[in-house]
Amino acid sequence: MTTVTTPANFTELGLIPTLLARLTELKYQQPTPIQAQAMPSVLAGRDLIAGANTGSGKTATFALPILQHLFMQQQAEKPLHSKSSKGNYVTGLILVPTRELAKQVADSIKSYAVHFNGVIKTVAVFGGVSANTQMLALRGGTDILVATPGRLLDLISSNAIKLDRVKTLVLDEADRMLSLGFTDELSALLALLPSSKQTLLFSATFPEQVQALTQELLNDPVEIQVQSSDASTLVQRVFTVNKGEKTALLAHLIKQHQWRQALIFVNAKKSCEHLAEKLSKRGISAEVFHGDKGQGARTRVLAAFKSGEIEVLIATDIAARGLDIEKLPVVINFDLPRSPSDYMHRIGRSGRAGEVGLALSLIDVEDYHHFKVIEKKNKVRLEREQVAGFEADDSILAAEKPMAKPEGSGKKKRKQKTTINADIWSGYSEAE
Ligand code: AMP
Repeated sequence: MTTVTTPANFTELGLIPTLLARLTELKYQQPTPIQAQAMPSVLAGRDLIAGANTGSGKTATFALPILQHLFMQQQAEKPLHSKSSKGNYVTGLILVPTRELAKQVADSIKSYAVHFNGVIKTVAVFGGVSANTQMLALRGGTDILVATPGRLLDLISSNAIKLDRVKTLVLDEADRMLSLGFTDELSALLALLPSSKQTLLFSATFPEQVQALTQELLNDPVEIQVQSSDASTLVQRVFTVNKGEKTALLAHLIKQHQWRQALIFVNAKKSCEHLAEKLSKRGISAEVFHGDKGQGARTRVLAAFKSGEIEVLIATDIAARGLDIEKLPVVINFDLPRSPSDYMHRIGRSGRAGEVGLALSLIDVEDYHHFKVIEKKNKVRLEREQVAGFEADDSILAAEKPMAKPEGSGKKKRKQKTTINADIWSGYSEAE
């Protein structure tokens, strides 16, 4: 692990005045821990492995240095080439796992670059929409390309873009990219990149596959793990409820708490629609967000949710990663996520950028054991709570008992109540 100094303000990071002015406009008062720790090394051209979640400020950590390098390079070249020609090439390549993240990252970059008067071109490409518009956008090349792996390969095979001149490669949410099955696409893309380049890898977790990738790709990287205390304040609670009464409890909670907005996770696309219908019968209007929706509809729903127009959004895990929805007050697990890491990603949608957030899980007797696994993997143990009028019957207490085990392997029942609001991030990367 390389020791790095941690500047306390943006001016000490080595950013140029144009970018500093933009950060002031965006009301970024001081660097987040990952920005303070990583940005000087990234600006100096070092490779980086960063253990960081969305919400940590990681986009600016890679975007600002890339923009700064590109801008300074273009300024230096200006007298020689009055009209810059980028051919079919890209200089800064950012690979992301999902369409939404591609759009979001590209939007952030464009926003950081507003005072560059259009000299830095940024394009986002992703599947699910026509490739033609993206091909047109790539005409004449681009300075920065934010892409999902599959669509990028398609565009390369149509000669719309070439990777030979990439100077900086960013792998954003590397764990998610691999868990979504992009391994082959990623290998194919990496083979097309020049061997000499700067590589920045961001991942919330470091399972074996990601570790293998870091070993293969990175050259003497600076390693940074955003510490638990750096995460935003997120309170986790779990409510036990009888089977079949979750919808009633959910409706009760929404009405009682009057949250400004709520993001509710379910496990299947159909469940989104079912739950929306059931809530609507109880007088709560909700929109849905899942993979069967066309890209246009997904973009519209997300924009409406971000702007606060939609108050209750029911989504599958497609919304769990990377989406930056400002200050979401509550995330509710109506269905438990399949994996402990999905749990972390879901609840990370709330309490972002230092805001206090709330993550609620509604569990019935069938969820009980699975929730314990999620807790164990994430090294947290939450008090089981009951909501007045929705108390679970005794079957849930029976579920607290250990699962039936082969003779001789019986363990003592674990104490039920422990800490509430535990530090959810501690040990997270080890838990994966
Ligand atoms: P990210 O982790 O990159 O998705 O960023 C999460 C959110 O934090 C985004 O809305 C950013 O605009 C915001 N953000 C990033 N860096 C800072 C900062 N230094 N100060 C305030 N907000 C920030």
